[in-house]
Amino acid sequence: LTGEFIAIERLRRLLPVPAPGVLGIGDDAAAILLPAGWLVTTTDAVVAGVHADLDLTGLDDLGWKAIAVNVSDIAAMGARPLQAVITVVGPPDTDLDRLYQGIAEAARRYECPVVGGDLANGPGLVVSVAMTGTVPDGEPVRRTGARPGDGIYVTGSLGLSAAGLRMLRKGEKESSLAVAAYRRPTPEVAAGEAARLAGATAMIDISDGLAADLGHLADASGVGLALDEVPVGEGATLEEAVAGGEDYVLAFTAPSDPSAAFAERGLAAPVRIGTATAVPAERLLAGQPLPAAGGWEHQWR
Ligand SMILES: [Mg+2]
Repeated sequence: LTGEFIAIERLRRLLPVPAPGVLGIGDDAAAILLPAGWLVTTTDAVVAGVHADLDLTGLDDLGWKAIAVNVSDIAAMGARPLQAVITVVGPPDTDLDRLYQGIAEAARRYECPVVGGDLANGPGLVVSVAMTGTVPDGEPVRRTGARPGDGIYVTGSLGLSAAGLRMLRKGEKESSLAVAAYRRPTPEVAAGEAARLAGATAMIDISDGLAADLGHLADASGVGLALDEVPVGEGATLEEAVAGGEDYVLAFTAPSDPSAAFAERGLAAPVRIGTATAVPAERLLAGQPLPAAGGWEHQWR
């Protein structure tokens, strides 16, 4: 079997090369420059049993998550969500109303109307969302722009979702922040916009784990990573913070302190966790090799 990212690269070569001016495969979202500005497009599916264990989380939570993971990819471009369409594939007894309760709550919270979709029967539940977004008065922030010397920042603490899943599996109390982070991740649109306006050179959302996702950003930019420390969420372990994934906070690089742009929007200052370096293969945490990317990767033949 081969990993998701090698499979994506193979499939990319089978597809027509996008026209100049189109940002295609290889970032959190694609983008095209229209006369009125940049339109950003992304799609992400949530699969019951793979992305969410329905014994531990409700169908409404799965619906929330399907919207939230797409909003997070839009936010990672420094964009705002515009609208979504949803395909639901599932068995006839799927509780669509409960699923759409969560979808509707997230759509309202992130001001992203659901404007269409498709319902089809199938053996397992899959909720696939396609979402557009816009970059008002600016350019999308790609993964490719980090330069040696840029500070590396995250917009929140890490590992909470992985810790929440661990607690749920052990049947521990369900009121914690960590469990909420697992069930209802809250992507950071305002922070993504603040980072863009603060001059972020590259940005990605943490979906597969900090080490894996920062690795994608570093690979795309051709820089190394020297991390000093990682903000670990309350109740999470360092390992969960580095490799757990599903945090849906943003990681970005910037040449100067971005705090003012965050303060102007009433947002907490992002946490500087390290520096981009000129040695592309470098992946360090406190001077030691960053634990191997780990993180989540789907497998393909
Ligand atoms: Mg992403």
